[in-house]
Amino acid sequence: MNNGDNISFTTELGMEKRSMRVGVPSGLLYYRYFPLWKSFLEYLGAEVEESGKTTRAILSAGVSKAENESCLPVKVFYGHALALKDRVDAIFVPRLVSLEKKTHTCPKLLGLPDLVRSAAEDMPMVISPTIDFHRSLWFNYRAVYSIGRIFTSNPFRIIWAGIHAWRRHREYQKKLAEGWEPLLAMGKEKGSPLCEGRKLRIGVIGHHYNIYDTFTTMSLLERLKGYGADIITVDMVPDAWKEEEVSRLPKRIYWNYERELVGALLACARRRLVDGIIFIISFACGPDSMIHILCEQEKRRLGNIPMLTLVIDEHTGEAGLITRIEAFVDMLNRKKKREDREKIGELVAV
Ligand code: SF4
Repeated sequence: MNNGDNISFTTELGMEKRSMRVGVPSGLLYYRYFPLWKSFLEYLGAEVEESGKTTRAILSAGVSKAENESCLPVKVFYGHALALKDRVDAIFVPRLVSLEKKTHTCPKLLGLPDLVRSAAEDMPMVISPTIDFHRSLWFNYRAVYSIGRIFTSNPFRIIWAGIHAWRRHREYQKKLAEGWEPLLAMGKEKGSPLCEGRKLRIGVIGHHYNIYDTFTTMSLLERLKGYGADIITVDMVPDAWKEEEVSRLPKRIYWNYERELVGALLACARRRLVDGIIFIISFACGPDSMIHILCEQEKRRLGNIPMLTLVIDEHTGEAGLITRIEAFVDMLNRKKKREDREKIGELVAV
């Protein structure tokens, strides 16, 4: 899509004029913001290229380049960036510092553009605006404007690109909240929604890149649907409920996305939105290991709803993972049947 005047990009050879091809690695914050980024870049005239779904080759490339101590999602992200490097003129990796006052994203996300730049010697240009809501609105506006200036000198066009992208983002968020997985919400795939009146209801709580990457989670969501479970994700829990839960905690959580996870998990437990919870965390993830302990403690006070914690890394075996999930679903089914029998017994007694 190209709106208005044609944007052209002169390659290093200075011979060819065409739209700039911008690559967006399909990892980490891709599942949250891709429609926004794509819409913004395309409105400015860029051709947007994705790295696609995670594959064994992408994971292996990422693991070979990343630091051993990195968490799995960062390794996967490296792999996606490397998959794009020879196909695009630039790679888009925003540096998200803070999304609201007094909060921060994980340090690994802060350093992401620098990690990608150093992933290979022949890496293309990395476009990395810094978004930081600790700072003024003007600071963030200038960050967005600076990307726009790569493509056009028309300030109105940049403003319209921003408005257009924000609308697209809101539509996407609405679809996620209605229970559509990201690739379905983006219209890239077809499939059934996460909730459609199945007999069990399970909260799958984890970062978007942990629960929606079908390769690293071995199609967890599809499996659960196949076992007859509806799924509640972080996106489907209303923001007001999540905020209410985190505001009850004795200490403030400073990580943006982890606040959301804790709020969603505790709302599921307090309001009995689900029969059980699967909490997915990455091996070597500092923030997740902290909030995991917090959630365990708080959840116990809310009546101890069953919870299975899955810690995943590149060595996680499919057989072991499936066995644990099957056993958990089986336990939830038996518990639900027993509770139903007890309810019937109480009604008969009355
Ligand atoms: S929050 Fe955890 S999983 Fe996510 S990037 Fe940071 S360390 Fe990795």
